[in-house]
Amino acid sequence: MKTAKKILMTQLRDKTTSRTTFRNTTQQLTQVLAHEAMEHLQTKTKNIETPLAQTTGQIYTDDIVLVPILRSGIAMLHTFLQYFQNAAVGIVGLKRDEKTAQAHWYYENLPPITNNHQILILDPMLATGGTAIETLKKLKGRGAQEEKIMLVTMVCAPEGLDAVKKTFPKTKIITATIDEKLNADKFIVPGLGDFGDRYFGTE
Ligand code: URA
Repeated sequence: MKTAKKILMTQLRDKTTSRTTFRNTTQQLTQVLAHEAMEHLQTKTKNIETPLAQTTGQIYTDDIVLVPILRSGIAMLHTFLQYFQNAAVGIVGLKRDEKTAQAHWYYENLPPITNNHQILILDPMLATGGTAIETLKKLKGRGAQEEKIMLVTMVCAPEGLDAVKKTFPKTKIITATIDEKLNADKFIVPGLGDFGDRYFGTE
């Protein structure tokens, strides 16, 4: 893990971190992850004129769609929109049943998607992988190409990572850390607790 990720993850993990710092650190770590995601996107050459000369630059080949998963994914949206300013945004809502850890749909509002779109799913915590897999299935069903979907997370459990990789081997996963395991309640250990509760102040 790179130093910036380690330092920021330490702040997020620490249970004494204040809500304000948790929010600011989330924004900083999301910037690091957005930079990493950008390195993996296809670009094409664009001819431009500076005030002094003609030159060439790079632009993304594909239109970008950001898909934050409610509710924690919203915490990453604003930062991603700063880097992908023209992106369409599709919102999906899946809630984990606390007893069965199964993901259930409760909201979906996606823009038109073609196989030329590059999709970035935003969800800070990849625990069992159930929510991510359901979202990937939905996006594929709408016409997205598996290899043009990227999953951007902060903390992964090995179980969730394996499950997503097994079901969608061509989807790239960007993360700050792969933790040890899931506990009996399907929380990531050591993890950082309930991301949404700490970010939104509902703990
Ligand atoms: N969601 C969280 O917020 N934390 C976990 O540890 C797992 C899922």
